[in-house]
Amino acid sequence: MDCIFCKIIKKEIPSKILYEDDLVLAMLDINPMNNGHTLIIPKKHYTDIMEADDILDYMFKIAKDLTPILMDKLEVKALTYLINYGDSQQVKHLHLHLIPDYLNENKHLKDIDEVYNLLKS
Ligand code: 5GP
Ligand code: ZN
Repeated sequence: MDCIFCKIIKKEIPSKILYEDDLVLAMLDINPMNNGHTLIIPKKHYTDIMEADDILDYMFKIAKDLTPILMDKLEVKALTYLINYGDSQQVKHLHLHLIPDYLNENKHLKDIDEVYNLLKS
């Protein structure tokens, strides 16, 4: 299957992995809307939220675990959870966005490696 997220899961394409277990992988978004923009993807290929089952609960559990790490290390007070569906969903492999400080209009995007090193430290 020609799915970019499946290739990331199989490590055929590199990514900045923040967390991984048997069921999900969390990585930095390659084109972040803000510093620390993270995607949580299930390892099993579900096309979209309508195909998803109990995995949604688990994705949100991991989202809750990652939330204080993102907010503390990036020193932000807000984080938005977002799932696109339909025409707004570009990658047809289910994913949950975690976007720190989404509404901040004065965002200064740091280098993704700098953000990654900060979050992994
Ligand atoms: P969607 O619109 O499908 O909800 O969002 C897809 C997201 O995946 C976008 O924010 C986009 O930047 C991100 N993305 C697309 N290709 C890659 C990739 O190869 N690696 C990573 N880390 N993120 C990607
Ligand atoms: Zn896939």
